[in-house]
Amino acid sequence: MEEANGLLSGPRKRASQHVFVECQYVEERRSGFIMTPVTDLNHEFVEHIPEDLKDGTLYVSLTFATVVHKCCCGCRNEVVTPLSPTDWKITFDGESVSLDPSIGNWSFDCKSHYWIENSRVRWARRWTREEIDAGRTYDRLAKKRYFEGRKAGSSDSSRPLASELAKDKTRPKSSLWSELKAWWS
Ligand SMILES: [Zn+2]
Repeated sequence: MEEANGLLSGPRKRASQHVFVECQYVEERRSGFIMTPVTDLNHEFVEHIPEDLKDGTLYVSLTFATVVHKCCCGCRNEVVTPLSPTDWKITFDGESVSLDPSIGNWSFDCKSHYWIENSRVRWARRWTREEIDAGRTYDRLAKKRYFEGRKAGSSDSSRPLASELAKDKTRPKSSLWSELKAWWS
């Protein structure tokens, strides 16, 4: 993991805050806009995802099997997490929402990486370029395998998976990453 040495001081250097602190620095330097990272999320069950997204809100569309929110680092990018057997899974316990696996916003400048657990943001380690590339390769293979299996096992292909429509399908899967590393070594 890259360290933003010299840019930060005091308790802000703690690893758990590393990702959004670094992101905040970059964004402030570029535009003067100060970002506020989100730690707690609300959720709204909707049919269609609204045009204007509120900060700190997860919009859950079961109709379109998709969850959308603004990046929790505060960079205001829109994060689309499709729900499917090869993408994310949502858990709703009646009060709070969790998404699995973690969300790695590798296509944004912030490269933020976090889990959403019980409507709270848990920050995770930023991935290296190699890890991101390997994760993407693994995702492609996992999807290929899944869709091939589906084609062979069932004729029900009328409903396209949300994953096929998603803008950003990149995210880490630490257990899969270990598997991939093991495969390489
Ligand atoms: Zn961000």
